Amino acid sequence: MLTCCPSDVSGTRVPPPGTSRPALVARRFSMITTVSERVQHELLPRVSKPNRYLGNALHAPHKPLAEAEIKMLMAFPDAFEIGLSNIGIRIIHHVLNQRPEVAAELVFAPWPDAEAEMRRRGIPLFSMESHAAAAEFDVIGFSLQYELQYTNVLNMLDLAGLPLRTVERDARHPLILAGGAQAFSPEPVAEFVDAFVIGDGEEAIHRVVDLVKRGKREDWTRSTLLRRLAHVDGVYVPWGYETRATVEGWQTPVARPGFPSRVRSVWVTELKSEYYPAAPLLPIGEITHDRLSVEIMRGCTRGCRFCQAGMINRPVREKPGQQVIEEVLRGLAATGLEEVSLVSLSSTDHTQIVDQVNALADALCATRVQIALPSTRPDNVPVEVARRMAAQKKGSITLAPEAGSQRMRDVINKNHTEEELMASVATAAREGYTGAKLYFMCGLPGETDDDLRAILDLAQRAHRAARAAGNASFRITVSVSPHVPKPHTPFAWAEQVTTAELARRLGVLRDAARGKPLTLKYRDAETSLLEGVFTRGDRRLGEAVEQAFRRGCRFDAWSEHLRFDTWMEVFEDLGIDPERYLAERSPELDQPWDVVQSPVTKKFLVREKVRADRAAITDDCRLEDVCFSCGVDECPQRPWVKQPHEPVDLPLAQRAATAFGRRARRVHGPEHRRVGGAAHKAQGIATSTRFRIEFVKDAAMRFTSHLDLMRAWERALRRSELPLAFSQGHHPHLKMSFGPPLPLGYRSRAEVFDLEFSRPPGVDLQERLDAVLPEGLQVLRFRPILFKTPSLMSQLEGASYRVRFPRAVQVETGFAPDALASCLARRATELEARRHVLVRRQNEGTTREFDARPSIVTLDVGSEDDAPVLDCHLRFTPRAAVRPEEILLELLPEADPRGADVERVALWSEPAGRRMDPFELLTPSGEGVARSHGTPS
Ligand code: SF4
Repeated sequence: MLTCCPSDVSGTRVPPPGTSRPALVARRFSMITTVSERVQHELLPRVSKPNRYLGNALHAPHKPLAEAEIKMLMAFPDAFEIGLSNIGIRIIHHVLNQRPEVAAELVFAPWPDAEAEMRRRGIPLFSMESHAAAAEFDVIGFSLQYELQYTNVLNMLDLAGLPLRTVERDARHPLILAGGAQAFSPEPVAEFVDAFVIGDGEEAIHRVVDLVKRGKREDWTRSTLLRRLAHVDGVYVPWGYETRATVEGWQTPVARPGFPSRVRSVWVTELKSEYYPAAPLLPIGEITHDRLSVEIMRGCTRGCRFCQAGMINRPVREKPGQQVIEEVLRGLAATGLEEVSLVSLSSTDHTQIVDQVNALADALCATRVQIALPSTRPDNVPVEVARRMAAQKKGSITLAPEAGSQRMRDVINKNHTEEELMASVATAAREGYTGAKLYFMCGLPGETDDDLRAILDLAQRAHRAARAAGNASFRITVSVSPHVPKPHTPFAWAEQVTTAELARRLGVLRDAARGKPLTLKYRDAETSLLEGVFTRGDRRLGEAVEQAFRRGCRFDAWSEHLRFDTWMEVFEDLGIDPERYLAERSPELDQPWDVVQSPVTKKFLVREKVRADRAAITDDCRLEDVCFSCGVDECPQRPWVKQPHEPVDLPLAQRAATAFGRRARRVHGPEHRRVGGAAHKAQGIATSTRFRIEFVKDAAMRFTSHLDLMRAWERALRRSELPLAFSQGHHPHLKMSFGPPLPLGYRSRAEVFDLEFSRPPGVDLQERLDAVLPEGLQVLRFRPILFKTPSLMSQLEGASYRVRFPRAVQVETGFAPDALASCLARRATELEARRHVLVRRQNEGTTREFDARPSIVTLDVGSEDDAPVLDCHLRFTPRAAVRPEEILLELLPEADPRGADVERVALWSEPAGRRMDPFELLTPSGEGVARSHGTPS
C-alpha cells in the first residue's frame, strides 16, 4: 500500500545537525507537494527511460483537469511504447476529449525501475499529460488486449492507492472500466473491474460517460451506478452475477435479479472520420509501432476458425478509400512521420487497396514516406501493390499460411491453396523483397506429425519458388506459434495440447527443418500455457492473478520478466491445475465466457466446428456474395445491402488535407533568439543549401534522449515542408549531422547541427522551423555553410556546462547556500590540483574506469539569483570525456547528482589557443578547423 508524505509539513532549508539522511530525504519530499512536482524532481531523473512518463506528445489535448466535469484516465497495462502503439486507446482518448465537459488523459504501466522508485518515495500512479494522481479521476478505463497483462492491471490499481476489488470500492473511488479483446472473456479479472465495455467503444463510451455524469450530479452510490450501467448496451457488470459450477467444473456467471442474463457486444456501423484524430498524438519517445497507423477496415469475414479477432469484430466495415487517403495525408502533415501503415486484420482484402496504395505511392514518393501493409493474406498480394511497395523499401514480406498441409488448412478454414502462396512469394521475390516471414501454428485440432512436417516442406517449396523467380538471396523464415483455443471461435471447445506434447511436436518441427535452407523460430510453451489458462478461464483465477501480483509478477508478456515458476507456485498453493484449463469442453454446456454474446451466434460457431471436423471449408461471405447467417444483426455486408465506395480521387484528397492543415503556428518569444534571418541575407542565405543551426533544448525536453531528439527534429523538418535533401539508397535519410550528444536529463542553450537542403530554403527558415518544433525546442540562430567545412563532430573540442542546485538538492547536501558555495569552491580547487581523477562509469551492465583529469579544463564557482552555481569547462578527451554529474559525485558526495539542474551553455574549439563557437568556426578564420581529439563519450 502506498504511503504519501503529508503535504502540510513544512521543512527548514538547513537541517539541524545530526539529522539522519532518511529524515533529510523525507523532509525534502515534504517540500514538494504536488504529484506533478514530485514526478519531475524525484522520479524522472532516476528512471531509465523518463520519456515513458513525460506526456509531451505533440497534439496531446492537455485539457485543464480542474475545469472538467468528468475526468477519464485511459490506462494501458503495458509499457508506454506498447500502449501508445495501440490504435484503440488512441481512438477512445480522442473521442472522449471531443466532449467539452470531459478531459481524458493516458497512463501506462510503470516499468519496474519506475515502480520501485514510486513505491520507495510514495509517488502514486499518475497520468501522462498532467501528472495528476490516478485516484483523482472519475473513471479509469483499461484497454485489455492480452491475458498476460492482468498482473499489471492490479499493480496499477495498487499504485493508484485503490482497493483491488469492486466490492471494496465505493463512490469515492474512480469507476474501473475495461474494454478490448479480453473483455470478451472477462471472468479471470471480473472481481477487479466494475464494468466491461464489450465490442467497439466509440459510441458505447458516451453512454457510460452520460451515466457517470448523471451519477456524479445526483450523488448516486456505487451500487446504483453499477445497476444502471448493467442496462447499457454492451456493458457487462460482473458484480451483478454470481457464479455456479457446471458439471465440467467451471464457474459460470449467473445473473442476479435485475441484471441481464447475457450481454451482447456492440459495434459501430461505419468508421467515421470523427473517431480518428486529424492530428494524431506524436510521442517524442520511440514507440513500438513508430509510424502513422491508419485503420482502413475493421472486421474480417474470411472465417479462419482459430481467429478470435475475425469473429468478434464482424461485420466488415471498410473505410472508403477517399477517407483513408485524406486521413493519411492529414496525419503525415501533422506529424512528419516517415512511414504510414494501412491497418486492418487483412489489409489486402480492402476492395480499394490497389487504388489506395497507388494514390499514396504517387503522393508520397517525393517525401520518401514508406507505406506498410501490416497484414497480408498469402493468397492475394496484388502484383501492383507488391510492385509499388517494393519500389520504396525492399524488406521482408509477412505471410501467414498458418498450416502446412492442405487438409489442415481446410480444417482451420484458411482458405487458400499452395499455388496461391507460391504465386505470392514469387511476386514478392520478383519485385525485390529480400525474404518472407511465414507464420504457422502447431497444436491445431486434428493435427498429425505429417501436418507438422508439411510446414517445413511448404516453406522449402516457397524458397524454391522465390529462386525460380530470379531472387537467389531470398530468405524464408518459418515462425511457429502454439495454437491457443480462443472463446467465441469454432475452436473454443477444442483441447489445447499440453506442455509436454507441445515440446514433442516442436521436436518434430526441429527434425524436419534440418538441412533445409530455412530459419525456424517458435514461441515458448510457458507463455502459451498461461494464455490458454486465462483465455478460457473462470472467476476462480482472479485469486491467482492477485497472488501472482502480490508475489512480484509484472509484465508477464515480456519473456525477460515472466516468472513462470512463481505462477506455478501460485496455482499449486491455490489448488489449481493449470493444465485442466486446456482440456476439451462441451459446446452443450455453459462456459465462463458465455455471459458475453459476440456478434456471431453460438449456433454458427458450432456449425463451423462440425465443418472443421470434416475438413470442410466455408467461403468468405463477402467475396462470394452470399450470407451464411453467422448472426450479425443488420449486417451491412449482406449481398443485398452492400454498397460500393466512390472512386479514389487523389487531387481532391490533397486539397482537403491541405485545407485542414492550415493551422495556427507556434510563435516563440525573442528571449533566446540571437540572430534574425535578415542579418544573414548578405551572407548567402538566399543561395546556400547547407546550414548550421543552433537551438535550445529546454526543461520540457531535458529527459529526451539524443536519438529521440534527432527523431523529433527529423519529423519537425518534415512538417515544415522545407526542401529537404535525402541520402540515396533504399533507406533514404535526411542529410543532417548533429553535434555531440547531450546526456539525458541535461538541458542546453547550445545544441547544434548541420543540415542540407535540396535547394535554398528561403530567408524565413527560422520562423518555419520554430513554427513546427515541439515544446522545449527553439532555433537560436542559423548560418549558411559557405566554405568546405569538416564535420561538426570533428571540429568541436569541448563544452561548458552550468550546474544549478535546486532547493531539494541543497537540502540534501546539508549546507546553507553560502556554505555550499564556499565548500564547492574549496573542493573544486582541490580537485583541479589533483593529477588524476578516477571516474567509474556504469553503462548497460558494464563498468569502466578512466582518469577524468585531462578532460577537466576549469571548474568555476559563481552565483546566479543568489544561489551558487558551478561552471564546468570540459574537454572531449578520447574515451575519457567526463560529465558534470561525475564531477559532482567528487565535489558533493552528500547529494544525489541526478537531482542537479545541468545546462550545456557552450560548445567550442580552441584553434591556435582562441576559443571559438561552432558559428565562428564557419567564418574564414575558423574555416577548416578540425580537432585531433576523440569523441565525447
Ligand atoms: S451476416 Fe452474413 S454477410 Fe454478414 S458477416 Fe455474417 S455471414 Fe457474412
